[in-house]
Amino acid sequence: MQEFDLVVIGAGPGGYVAAIRAAQNGLKVACIEKESALGGTCLRVGCIPSKALLEASELYKLARTTLSDYGVLTDGVRLDLPAMLARKDGIVATLTKGIDGLFRKNKITRFVGHGRIAGPGKVVVEGDTPTELAAKKILIATGSKSTPLKGVEVDGQHVVTSTEALSFQDVPKRLVLIGAGVIGLELGCVWSRLGAEVIVLEYLDRILPGIDNEIAAEAKKTFTKQGLQFRLGLRVTGAKYENGRCVVTAEGQEPVECDKVLLAVGRIPNTDNLGLENASIQLDQRGRINVDEHYQTSSPGIYAIGDVIAGPMLAHKAEEEGVAVADILAGKYGHVNYNAIPGVVYTEPEVATVGQTEEQLKEAGVPYKKGTFPFMANARAKALGHTDGRVKVLAHAQTDRVLGVHIIGPRAGDLIAEAVVAIEWGASAEDIARSSHAHPTLSECLKEAALGVDGRTIHM
Ligand code: FAD
Ligand code: NAD
Repeated sequence: MQEFDLVVIGAGPGGYVAAIRAAQNGLKVACIEKESALGGTCLRVGCIPSKALLEASELYKLARTTLSDYGVLTDGVRLDLPAMLARKDGIVATLTKGIDGLFRKNKITRFVGHGRIAGPGKVVVEGDTPTELAAKKILIATGSKSTPLKGVEVDGQHVVTSTEALSFQDVPKRLVLIGAGVIGLELGCVWSRLGAEVIVLEYLDRILPGIDNEIAAEAKKTFTKQGLQFRLGLRVTGAKYENGRCVVTAEGQEPVECDKVLLAVGRIPNTDNLGLENASIQLDQRGRINVDEHYQTSSPGIYAIGDVIAGPMLAHKAEEEGVAVADILAGKYGHVNYNAIPGVVYTEPEVATVGQTEEQLKEAGVPYKKGTFPFMANARAKALGHTDGRVKVLAHAQTDRVLGVHIIGPRAGDLIAEAVVAIEWGASAEDIARSSHAHPTLSECLKEAALGVDGRTIHM
């Protein structure tokens, strides 16, 4: 039987990063992944392919609509969807192969197959000839999958999850999204830009749950202007394909007919056939693996990170946990500051957020001051031709410490990094306001919003 210091099950951003870091820390590491490509949901069917399509579809839309405003005339613009999909697949292939290279460089032994815990210190790689591995420590990083919804008959062709919606071979005439969360909006924007009529059915009376209310309301206004049709406050009860059409039913609504339905009502942890019962590993009420502050499960020596445990289902959160657990296993200090994990929605404009929302601060009774600054008043945003949105900085009313930053606007996903560092380092709004920001850049909006916390905005 082969023996390892650490056996990682799952090679997504949590698992592959943990494997690399553990190898850097001198551990003998194996990683089991059931798919032939490494990188997990994120690289194969998540973050990367969706961003490749978001980028490409936005360029197509620009070429057909506003590029002439810049003095660039583009007659006869046409869509080559197979080329767009092939470009996306090429990016995914390059990046997943890159992880293979990193595994080789770090001397990580890779097993292809379904990993199952056979007992404490024992993992089986299932396949034609099962392989048993002995492991001093085991790390579960098996990620998540699309949440099913009662009555919604996913067939992978017409009623689909995000995985299939990344590879539609034709632009649907009418696409219904169930759920106005991150997946629904990102993929809805892709197909809307490429010509689909997109109808979004959402249970809540708002979009993007979890995002600061004011920013989410502005996002809804902007997406509506872009053509997305929102029907909020209704519970979808069924969807199926019959007689050549999809029909979606919701309480208190006429059934909606369409060509395709995307089910995007959240994701659930992957714990099927993992052998958790063989090591008495406990789950919480939502089926996530329970861990302590060192990511150890209820079974000593077995750890878990990423989408399979509690917390935001984000690639960079899984990566941070991967590094932290690998350091803890090597006797070093490992810690993740969950208050400084940014969230980004890669629509146009982007939505980016870190720290606490106004609603959370109000609920917790924390006194705060607020500074905002619109991209409309920023020179670089004008030059870019992207002036929708604003930056909002929330700081403690007495200490001025930055508590939350919420942005809707051009390149918000990149701008938020400065706010993450500010929160991580315990900076004040004054610290941001006093730091020189290059002119003309979008980042000046963050400086101005920080000045605004004390009523000192210059350019408004
Ligand atoms: P995963 O990436 O899900 O990896 C788990 C791996 O384990 C998989 O490869 C799976 O095949 C493997 N596995 C499962 N069970 C077993 C087993 N028993 N044996 C062997 N292997 C197994 N997050 C962001 O931060 N930014 C984004 O832009 C973003 N976009 C997204 C877009 C979409 C369409 C989707 C679906 C998700 C997106 N996410 C994004 C979320 C992100 O993909 C996840 O949070 C992240 O991949 C979680 O990493 P993980 O390592 O925990 O799990
Ligand atoms: P989500 O939790 O973001 O949104 C799901 C939405 O579906 C919610 O608004 C919910 O109210 C709604 N809903 C639930 N039941 C419903 C019903 N019966 N009828 C109508 N609406 C209903 O989930 P998601 O969009 O599926 O994304 C899953 C995860 O993937 C998220 O946690 C997210 O963090 C991650 N993700 C991240 C990114 C990113 O970081 N850019 C991109 C994609 C996915």
